[in-house]
Amino acid sequence: MGKSSKDKRDAYYRLAKEQGWRARSAFKLLQLDEEFNLFENVTRVVDLCAAPGSWSQVLSRVLIKGEKFGRCAWQDREAKFRQQMLNVFPEKQDAQDKVQDVQATQESTPAPREQVKIVSIDLQPISPLPGIITLRADITHPATVPLLLKALDPDFDPSTMNQQASHPVDLVISDGAPDVTGLHDLDIYVQSQLLFAALNLALCVLKPGGKFVAKIFRGRNVDLLYAQLKVFFEKVYVAKPRSSRASSVEAFIVCINFQPPEGFTANLEEPLGVGNKLAEMLAEKQAKEEPTTKSATQTPADKDGIYDVEVEDLTNEPLKDIRWVAPFVACGDLSAFDSDASYKLPDDHVSLDPVQPPTAPPYKRAIELRRQNGGAYKKTGTGTATAKA
Ligand code: SAM
Repeated sequence: MGKSSKDKRDAYYRLAKEQGWRARSAFKLLQLDEEFNLFENVTRVVDLCAAPGSWSQVLSRVLIKGEKFGRCAWQDREAKFRQQMLNVFPEKQDAQDKVQDVQATQESTPAPREQVKIVSIDLQPISPLPGIITLRADITHPATVPLLLKALDPDFDPSTMNQQASHPVDLVISDGAPDVTGLHDLDIYVQSQLLFAALNLALCVLKPGGKFVAKIFRGRNVDLLYAQLKVFFEKVYVAKPRSSRASSVEAFIVCINFQPPEGFTANLEEPLGVGNKLAEMLAEKQAKEEPTTKSATQTPADKDGIYDVEVEDLTNEPLKDIRWVAPFVACGDLSAFDSDASYKLPDDHVSLDPVQPPTAPPYKRAIELRRQNGGAYKKTGTGTATAKA
């Protein structure tokens, strides 16, 4: 698909280039913030799986430069395009309202925050961004946590890692995605492993009251995951920003108010998501909330007004699969672009290059090999591949 055709089919791809974002994902974070006010009172943030860095750009611009991207302010950069759209579709009143909203917020002055610390981590290198500490590391590896704590606090002593709790972070965000294979169940499984890695890391660094936001793929057992997250956070939502395609299983869990259970200390030797620890913690929480293990069924009162209550003792029952349905929140207001729709571009539209081409994409070696061989490979009759002449 050519750049121009992609501009048409993917409004957020085009907007990202026009507004200087490294990836269209920036809009997902902005729309989540619009709904959940994620950056309120936040100064220390960890951005996991951050390359090429559009979420980190949002953090840098909101927290360090103090730009206002709250409800509708981020759309000021859309105003010009919307005005052009109005010329094409004059009846599109919601676009007209948006232009007016934007004019109303354009006067807001930036308010940089003090003592901001942002650490961004990815397997891939991240090109430098103002005020952001970048680490090239694997979030599934236990050695990444001390690296992260050291980046947040240069005086941190990694040898005290398991004795001394260090909880300096207000918000952990993770947009982690594996290279998808197209095998649906496998992709969902690998994604869930990344999510548990992000959660384990968040549990090691989040302050009580902190927030955790992470990408999920909504698979069959996702309601069990929501229940598990409720062990640690007061509120858990599943959110779908308008910039995330409706056709995709992608969504984001937004967990608010970190409240670790009494006596809980995160321990990477025993990470959650492996073994039964999480299931046991969930059952324990459930038992506290419903302290009886007896299930009672009551029949109507007999003629003397006496009830017959049969009690079934469930003490030795195996742990039930405990599930919980998280509230679903669609975010990004309805006048925002629909990520599944194609839009007619203005006649004078110029397609821009991406802001930040991938620094070390996994396909880099394949491209180099192809160049060395003088072009694309084609299959020969014997099944071996040769370079195209
Ligand atoms: N939020 C980013 C942005 O706004 O630019 C986009 C993130 S991209 C969708 C997913 C990223 O997850 C990729 O850059 C990939 O390298 C990273 N990733 C996947 N597995 C990882 C792991 N085990 N550790 C660190 N990063 C990982």
